[in-house]
Amino acid sequence: MGGVQRGVGTSEDVGCECNGACCKRINLETNEVEACHYLTDDNLCSIYEDRPIACRIAEYNTSEMTAMHCYLCTLSLKMRVPVPVLLDHLKQSDITN
Ligand code: SF4
Repeated sequence: MGGVQRGVGTSEDVGCECNGACCKRINLETNEVEACHYLTDDNLCSIYEDRPIACRIAEYNTSEMTAMHCYLCTLSLKMRVPVPVLLDHLKQSDITN
């Protein structure tokens, strides 16, 4: 795997379909979506080979966990709710019980 790749993996190797959503966060003060400064305009990681350990979750998880990770990141951006807050709400709801 060489060159520039999408955030945590590619659709070919880990089924990642979030188009870089996992590399973006909602800023609650401005309500703006902010991208990692290493994310390119094409939603690719410009330091893929040297990305931090936190960005390598797909290497240690199943494709189902990776899909859930991507889903939560995408939902977080759409709802303008940080992932930890979103997870707290899901834990308290019947969805995860
Ligand atoms: S370094 Fe930035 S762009 Fe690269 S995978 Fe991590 S969050 Fe995404």
